[in-house]
Amino acid sequence: MLPGSSPHILLAEDNPVNQKMALIMLRRLGLQADTAVNGREVLSAMEERPYDLVLMDIEMPEMDGIEATRLIRERWSLGPKIIILTSLEPDLCRDLCYDAGADDFINKPFRMDELDAAIGRSLSGQYAAIAQSLPQVASLV
Ligand SMILES: [Mg+2]
Repeated sequence: MLPGSSPHILLAEDNPVNQKMALIMLRRLGLQADTAVNGREVLSAMEERPYDLVLMDIEMPEMDGIEATRLIRERWSLGPKIIILTSLEPDLCRDLCYDAGADDFINKPFRMDELDAAIGRSLSGQYAAIAQSLPQVASLV
């Protein structure tokens, strides 16, 4: 991404309520995201434009988040950061997520500050600059 620009985020989540909640949290963090409801849609979206970050639900119909992550890592050498959204136990998820090529994972249901922290870790300095410019939003967490 270009310095100072907003990160391009793709949110992959098949549950409409979870998707809506995540979009609300992202908006409050000053971020926007495109959406997908399964791994196939993630790969289609990736063909259309580059993304800085994919928030990837682990359990989705047709193609799950682990398979989609694996395929992204196979097809794109300079791919996005990938954060897996999971309800699995952290000990179970850790190997599964990292072996597939994910950068991080967070457990569902997650709070806005947990999402914020995970995005911050993945996008490092780029996102920190955005967060610091929005202290009034951060105080709502
Ligand atoms: Mg799901």
